[in-house]
Amino acid sequence: MRALLINPYTYDFAAYNFWSAPIGPLRVGAILRQNGFEVYLIDCMKVREEKRKDDGRAPFITQRVQVPPPLSGIQKTFSRYGFSRDELAQALLHVPKPDIVLIGTLFTYWYLGPKEVSELVKSLFPKARVILGGLYVTLCRQHATRSFKACDLLVPHNAIWLLYEYIAREFSIKLPFTPSAFDLDSLPYPCFDLYPQIPFVPLVTSYGCPFRCTFCATPFLFPQTAQRSKGSLLDEVSHWHTLGVEKFVLYDDAFLYRKEVHAKPILRALSDLPFKLQLFNPNALHARMIDEETAFLLRTAGFREVRLGLEGLPRLISPHTDGKLAERDFERAIDYLKRAGFPDDSITAYLLVGLPFQHWKEVKHAIDYAATFHIRIELAEYSPIPQTPLFDAFRTHARYPIEA
Ligand code: SF4
Repeated sequence: MRALLINPYTYDFAAYNFWSAPIGPLRVGAILRQNGFEVYLIDCMKVREEKRKDDGRAPFITQRVQVPPPLSGIQKTFSRYGFSRDELAQALLHVPKPDIVLIGTLFTYWYLGPKEVSELVKSLFPKARVILGGLYVTLCRQHATRSFKACDLLVPHNAIWLLYEYIAREFSIKLPFTPSAFDLDSLPYPCFDLYPQIPFVPLVTSYGCPFRCTFCATPFLFPQTAQRSKGSLLDEVSHWHTLGVEKFVLYDDAFLYRKEVHAKPILRALSDLPFKLQLFNPNALHARMIDEETAFLLRTAGFREVRLGLEGLPRLISPHTDGKLAERDFERAIDYLKRAGFPDDSITAYLLVGLPFQHWKEVKHAIDYAATFHIRIELAEYSPIPQTPLFDAFRTHARYPIEA
């Protein structure tokens, strides 16, 4: 049996490979491989290698395309990121005919690329079962059902058993290895070895978050928290290191939750490894959970930078952030991080802009506040996510029919 994993190309006004990798499809590929499948990969989201930064980030290859009619009022360049349809068609001709094709999805507003990819795949491999999974499917199930006629099965991220049952039924085989997607200790390592080079590997040490921010989908996607054992994580790090990987990217939403029994033992063990790592955390750490020892351990474990989710001026934004941070927590965390040896420009505060209730002066206050610490500030533009409390509020503010 052959399985083909596809990380589809996408369309957007802006996109950059900010340590993103198709960990979901690669994880499913690893499960199928353990079940005896031959697994192949086409990653359409190619980057410009000559522009890759030392830390692993890189710009996607892009081509300007026409703005779709519903968005024609936006005076910005609209582009396809990654392969063109023709390049993908060529790549598909060079893989052995698959029995199943698994297409991953990410942001809800990126669905057009996966849709085109699914239709192309079905036209070239009419007998293959085309399966769509990922976050878009989870967050927009009905929209996906309406839009992806070329797909034989939709698999939300929390229902991998649908895939197991489907394969058993369609191919009359019993899969011997069917782990839960939430059992982090029993999942095989994502098959990054399918890439000719591995610039970095994402690590997932936990799922979920104890907070309930109104703009965030994590509470919907992972209603419960789950944490991985230290031993399993260290085994994975060592595995990739033997393949030459030095850069690791933490994908957790709440790495420091229950830090005394989770993050601190992991960080101590990473600090004691006989080789050096470079660690990055694009998803931000909870500033409130950084104490003096945590800051020190982040440094000794190999974190090259620390990103913190400030979101806004805490006293103004706290109704939307479940009170996750007070000014004094943030100030203390910055102090600990600097004392642990993190240079000013290695500490970044994320600020959310464009929230439906937000006045521009609130953003300015937050920027002015963060700037007093001489750290880096990155503005994260709010995008409405279905299944979040703020999505409903945003519906009345949106310039576009966001539920269309
Ligand atoms: S703290 Fe972060 S991960 Fe948790 S709900 Fe808020 S935004 Fe989401």
